[in-house]
Amino acid sequence: MLEIRREKLRANGRSPHFRAALARLRTETAEAARIGEVDFAGARGQWTHLYHCHADGAALRFDWEQPGCHVCPLCGTVYAGEPFDGCWISIAHNRIAKAVYHAALLHAIEPDEALATTAKRYMLEYAEHYSDYAVHGEIPYNGPGKLFAQTLDEAHWMLDLAAGYSLLSGELAEEENSRIRAGLLAPCAEFLIAHKEMQIHNHAVLITSAIGALGILLGDDAVASAGLDGEYGLRDQIARGILGDGFWYEGSFTYHFYALRALLSFSLLAEGTAWDVRNSAQLKAMFDFPLRVVLPGGRLPALNDSGPSELLVAYASLYEAGLDFYGDTRHRLLLQEAYYGQEAGRAACNEEGCVTFQARDSLEALLYGGELPDTEAETGSVLQAWTERSFTSAESGLTKLVRPAGWHALLKHGPFGGEHDHLDRLGLQLGYEGRPVLTDPGTTAYGVPAHYGWFKHTLAHNAPSVGGFDQPPRDGRLAQAHDRAWGTWAESAVDWTEYGYRMQSSIFLPEELCPWDERPYAGVTFRRIVALADDLALDVVLAEALEAREFCLAQHIAGEWEVPCDAWLPNYHAFGAIDGRWLSAHRGRMSGPRETLRAKLRAGGRMRLDGWCSVPSSMSLADTPDNPPTASRATLIRSTQAVRTAMFVHAYRFEDEQAEPAASAPKEGLDVSPTEDGGWRIELRTGGGARRFRLHWHDTSAEFGMTDDL
Ligand SMILES: [Zn+2]
Ligand SMILES: [Zn+2]
Repeated sequence: MLEIRREKLRANGRSPHFRAALARLRTETAEAARIGEVDFAGARGQWTHLYHCHADGAALRFDWEQPGCHVCPLCGTVYAGEPFDGCWISIAHNRIAKAVYHAALLHAIEPDEALATTAKRYMLEYAEHYSDYAVHGEIPYNGPGKLFAQTLDEAHWMLDLAAGYSLLSGELAEEENSRIRAGLLAPCAEFLIAHKEMQIHNHAVLITSAIGALGILLGDDAVASAGLDGEYGLRDQIARGILGDGFWYEGSFTYHFYALRALLSFSLLAEGTAWDVRNSAQLKAMFDFPLRVVLPGGRLPALNDSGPSELLVAYASLYEAGLDFYGDTRHRLLLQEAYYGQEAGRAACNEEGCVTFQARDSLEALLYGGELPDTEAETGSVLQAWTERSFTSAESGLTKLVRPAGWHALLKHGPFGGEHDHLDRLGLQLGYEGRPVLTDPGTTAYGVPAHYGWFKHTLAHNAPSVGGFDQPPRDGRLAQAHDRAWGTWAESAVDWTEYGYRMQSSIFLPEELCPWDERPYAGVTFRRIVALADDLALDVVLAEALEAREFCLAQHIAGEWEVPCDAWLPNYHAFGAIDGRWLSAHRGRMSGPRETLRAKLRAGGRMRLDGWCSVPSSMSLADTPDNPPTASRATLIRSTQAVRTAMFVHAYRFEDEQAEPAASAPKEGLDVSPTEDGGWRIELRTGGGARRFRLHWHDTSAEFGMTDDL
């Protein structure tokens, strides 16, 4: 670690501006004192994704005192035996590595021999036993581990130990240093090199970061080069894994920041050496991208395998490093917003508990933090201004449309993201004044049945499909995006006329985790236009195939349907290969040419949905899993008969919850009719007048616009 970094750590640790960060470091270091009797000899960790309640998906409670007893904090179920005991071992050793790192940091700020001795003792324990740990783990998509069940976890643990060791090694006796290097660092490097992933992937970023860090600590350029250089080395991960606009290709903010965190862990040891990666323009772009996609309400969208939508300020601590590296004003503004602005004090909760963001209390603040004046003038509305700016990028394949104080939309038309993709090209999310309306819940822990059973499938998304079958991997395409006086709109497309996708030669997909079937999609094309006017969101989907197909369009609302029960009959229609148990209260009926449905939104207010389909279709309603899976979304699936072309048009309007939904005047509603020149006229009549749009599907991009506003 650079001397100037250590100096900054010591100076920040003594500065009153970082009192909260020092206090938190002290608290976290105290965790080390709670570490009880842990077996280092013969330790064999299990995959911690299995450390979840089977009933509700909650993470089980880890207790240092109870290595054989694992309690669900939600329902109280007690789990024992394997795999839970093995998961406990993994969590324990993770915490020990963190304790070593935290103790080393605190010792650097306020020297304390007892802390240094504890950290040293753990490293020497590992040095004594590491070579004897048995290679094990048969986790899908993952190489094995020695202490852990997968290579990834081994790399995580080692990155913490490596940072701790780099701070402490100068104080260890020569003989102790040799034991740790020969018994722990070198054999771990050898193991990780042997299990490098031959693909571009977030795991590979972690593993090559750990190898690179070990090479630097060992002063062994061959080891560092095994981490950094060549095909699938860390530099290749940066070059091919980060898309042109800075989004990590797996298309999930969870993995975006996960990869970024690993790069920062590596950078902490690499800065100032020949292996420094900070001058990469793509690393800088990784910091910048989320600032452009943040949605009204300050949230980053849930996409692919990610947790539920999170606040951007939840990641503020990483921007301490961004600001230190690049001096970008936007990073400073985000930090000021997080610590002093309107976002300060807001809480985000997950299964581990709630975090608020007002405190500048992170390790990153201690390591990278600089002066950050609390200037009212510069904070407050900064984040809001970012959230209200539309954004479109063909590279990440995300288009954000925003009408301030009205609708916002997020349209997904990006490259296939590999293992963590949700097969939802042309997926749509909608919100109104920051409230979620059409949502993507991300997913839950991978050991919970709803993950592989529901969340990862096309049908779980607001996306078109053939019969509810999963979309085979393809890259989406942005056709166009425009701002007009009446509103903003974008068109995207995806097709299965040719085989192949951007990342095909860079990733590895085991057959058992490829749920799609190419056949239903052969020759299919989907196009989607989303338009936002002030009080209206208009969604048009065109589905075409060379041979007749049953097309489906699913819509999942964060709320409840308000529909009379008597018109709907129990429905057993099967969608693709989806298990019917995920569609509860499944009911359906034939659809009229025009339909109006209402839903009460969970976040307040009511949504009116006017729908139209160009061919005879049926409608299914169901309650389907939200995230966490104990909650549900209100799902509508429109399905056509087997046809070669179908067009779905939906108009969304927000209604005040207080106002009783007036029985629509007979003339209110949505009308779609063909025009003489082969196009379409879309008319939405409301109490306040009528809005007319014209649409003409040309070969590669459509002609679309509002014709008048009466
Ligand atoms: Zn439970
Ligand atoms: Zn999803």
